[in-house]
Amino acid sequence: MTGDGKSNRLLIAILIGIVLGMLLGGLSPAAGRAVKFIGEIFIRALLMLVVPLIIATMTVGISRLGDIRRIGGIGGKTITYYLATTALSVVVGITLVNLIQPGRADTEQGRIAMRGGELLTDVAYRIYDNTLTLDTDTFQRAYDNRYMVLLQDQDDIRGVVAKSHDPFVSSLIISEWTDGEGNRVTPSDQGVSIRVDLAVAEGIKGKSRSIGTVLRDVVVGLVPRNLFAAMMNNDVLPLIIFSLIFGAVLTTLGERGRPVLIFFEGLNEAIMRIVHLLMLTAPVGIGALIAGRLGDAGGFIGFGPEFVRLGQYAATVLTGLLIHGLITLPLILFFFGKQRVWPYSVNSVAALTTAFSTASSAATLPLTMQCTTEKNKISERTASFVLPLGATINMDGTALYEAVAAIFIAQIYGIDLGSVHMVVIFLTATLAAIGAAGIPEAGLVTMVIVLQAVNLPIEGISLILVIDWFLDRCRTTVNVWGDTVGAAVVHNLEGEGDTD
Ligand code: ASP
Repeated sequence: MTGDGKSNRLLIAILIGIVLGMLLGGLSPAAGRAVKFIGEIFIRALLMLVVPLIIATMTVGISRLGDIRRIGGIGGKTITYYLATTALSVVVGITLVNLIQPGRADTEQGRIAMRGGELLTDVAYRIYDNTLTLDTDTFQRAYDNRYMVLLQDQDDIRGVVAKSHDPFVSSLIISEWTDGEGNRVTPSDQGVSIRVDLAVAEGIKGKSRSIGTVLRDVVVGLVPRNLFAAMMNNDVLPLIIFSLIFGAVLTTLGERGRPVLIFFEGLNEAIMRIVHLLMLTAPVGIGALIAGRLGDAGGFIGFGPEFVRLGQYAATVLTGLLIHGLITLPLILFFFGKQRVWPYSVNSVAALTTAFSTASSAATLPLTMQCTTEKNKISERTASFVLPLGATINMDGTALYEAVAAIFIAQIYGIDLGSVHMVVIFLTATLAAIGAAGIPEAGLVTMVIVLQAVNLPIEGISLILVIDWFLDRCRTTVNVWGDTVGAAVVHNLEGEGDTD
């Protein structure tokens, strides 16, 4: 096992890797992009281990439960923990976004000319980046017209109404702003104009599914039609179900089951050894991933303005994630997991930084297992059950982000949401997080569920796209932290604290 000095050295190396990666990609985007392939090798190596790890670890873990009826106990505690912590994080998100109101824009008064010269005076409007919100009547007129000119003090600014999302939502996404001479301009009361990526929003819309369909798909998807196809697609949930049944059945076979179990125990150990080796490359892999992603975003210079423009929104999500990750989860770890927070967190750093650099809970799973069982001494029985399941269905960070993003979009469009809406957002954000796979940007796609549930325009997703790659990393880190804390809690509640 890794000694303390050795793991401290690794930790320092990872932190150095992160700083160097940030500097490289931030200062020289081209250099960042050049080392990106090293990060890709690291992710691929992690993903390579996910399938054998899940099958081996869960089969062995379940067979070690002793009495198979204990699955019910562990399962119940795990699911209760998942739901409770996800709910807590959504509450934090909803509270913050309502307090900070990052999407609120001030209402202004202006004149609007329609096609054909009709002039409306004293029209109340709000602009947030490229989204203009009008009252319902004016909106309907502009919509019918497909064209309007907003007359601001300094210039006449024309907005060609390119797209209307929903007749009930009185907002327009402006395709272009031009002055009286037809030159493209930026409306005077906004900073830099935002890139509205309708094509992407449309793509996401194509994937939209109702809550019922999502739930049904999750349940149907639990049973693989073809085990190898599930392995090929890294479909974690069906593999979990198969391994649970497989492990349980093996224990009932007596002598004939033993060689199979011994095989899987060996497989499990071998995979964990590979994880050890891989861990040694983590500083370089993580650093290269960060350098590559920052390079793609155009370095500090390219990413900076995006961050500033959506700064209040990003700050709201990040504050929520920090509250959940640094206050709520540590309290739960201390009181329900009976662990000392600092050493437990330090031992989890390799998993957390990998989560940040890969933006994938599933890819991080091998390291989460390693940190939790070997460094934090959580029993394999518990970890092998709680962690794989958590990597796919326990996503506190994602749930929080989905709620904040949906309400932020409503604020931008000037749509007032009442308390019933908040409850619906609370429920659907939790569901959408459960339905999101542990892969990058999965939460962005399942957010459609939340938006549809409260009738918000799906195009609103375009507004938050530019910064999502960054928030994805942060929420994935909290997702993995939530799983790790969950392992400690279930371990303790199962009374395993003294035995291992
Ligand atoms: N990338 C996240 C994860 O793997 C899911 C999301 O997009 O929120 O945990």
